[in-house]
Amino acid sequence: MRPPNLDSILSNPSFAGLYRPLVKKIALEFLEKWRNEWKNTQVENDNNTQQDSTKLEQLIADILKIYQSLTSPSLIPLINATGIALHTNLGRSVLSREILEKITPLLLSYNNLEYDLQKGQRGERYSHLKTLFCAMLDCEDVLVVNNNAASVFLVLNTFAKNKEVLISRGELIEIGGSFRIPDVMQNAQAKLVEVGTTNKTYLSDYKKALSEEVAIVMKAHKSNYSIVGFSEEVSYSSLVEFAKEEGIIDYYDLGSGFLGLNGEQFFSEPSLKEIAQLKPSLVSFSGDKLLGSTQAGIIFGKSALIAQLKKNPLLRMLRVDKITLSILQETLRAYLVGNIEAIPTASFLHQTPKDLEEKAKILAQSIPKRFNPQVIETQTFSGGGSLPNRAISSYGVSLCCALSAEKLEKKLRERHIIGRIFKDRVVLDVYALFKEDLEKITHILQDLNE
Ligand SMILES: *Cc1c(COP(=O)(O)O)cnc(C)c1O
Repeated sequence: MRPPNLDSILSNPSFAGLYRPLVKKIALEFLEKWRNEWKNTQVENDNNTQQDSTKLEQLIADILKIYQSLTSPSLIPLINATGIALHTNLGRSVLSREILEKITPLLLSYNNLEYDLQKGQRGERYSHLKTLFCAMLDCEDVLVVNNNAASVFLVLNTFAKNKEVLISRGELIEIGGSFRIPDVMQNAQAKLVEVGTTNKTYLSDYKKALSEEVAIVMKAHKSNYSIVGFSEEVSYSSLVEFAKEEGIIDYYDLGSGFLGLNGEQFFSEPSLKEIAQLKPSLVSFSGDKLLGSTQAGIIFGKSALIAQLKKNPLLRMLRVDKITLSILQETLRAYLVGNIEAIPTASFLHQTPKDLEEKAKILAQSIPKRFNPQVIETQTFSGGGSLPNRAISSYGVSLCCALSAEKLEKKLRERHIIGRIFKDRVVLDVYALFKEDLEKITHILQDLNE
């Protein structure tokens, strides 16, 4: 059949209300193909109107399908059955409806982001978090940037441009997404001075490397590895003391960092509260790791140093908007009153083995028997750079059915459930599952045909 003309296709009622230039672009590609086929076959059968109308209908359907695939949302919600609460690939910390409801009025109206209500003049964007954050942690000042990688960059660039930074060889970290301390140093135009060895670094190593050129002694959290066995590192409290004696800046890139307002412990990690008590020069951490808020880099410490960071023209490129600041503000306020339910990450971390087992039992009971659901003990990690080699005990439900584990995993993934395969069974770890997820998983499995 001779290909139809473009206009007759575009005027098809199925395309009413769609973005015409895109429909046209897709239609042209199909028509081009059709034209080529038609030229090549030569055998014309122009009288077969039955076949023609089916072919036309097919064309319209094909165009619609491509249109929909190009315009439907790409960023979509998923069910995290990996057990890793701070999964960077799955968006790290999840926010709660409660926090979102609290910030909504602020986002639906103008606000005092950079307006001083008392003076009736320009105010400071970063002042909003300062009062609350410093009241909670008893520190001098705080600054918020786009993410913690930006914090590291800003600190190094502000204080160590063309100067030296001492850091232990054991802490030259690389974390995901090509963040490597030596590269960040180089880009910030700071000179890296490695001290000690990979497994052992003593305070004397830092002392030996000291010179007029040194501006910062830095510690980086070993977010995704640990050095065990014959090893030695210098505590941050010793580095704070050392920096004070030598008149240089101590800086801790803490990476994750959980608040620990009431002395809670997370493995043997020092809490932000404990670190703040050391009266450090500067510390930075991520907003969406263990804090459980939104993507941000939070830098706190001495006010004279924070003031200098604020003067760096680069800050303008790293600045955060009202959405970030308002979410952080409400997350901190929730911590202040112990409202852990408003912070899903914190709620997950507070789960006891009994809670997890109960969650897994509820899930297993509601899953159709043909998936042979079994409650199993699992090992998971918090993720997001919080000691991945320290396993957290969790529970999961393992499944197997007529399909292979690979096929079942794929089918679940297509239905937006992300699990993992272990010993030829698909495991849905319950650690990072919300109550609503349990029901959703049940429905999806009920409807799944093998
Ligand atoms: C995660 C992490 C970063 C980067 O933080 P982002 O908020 O992801 O930019 C930097 N340093 C350490 C030690 C980290 O763990």
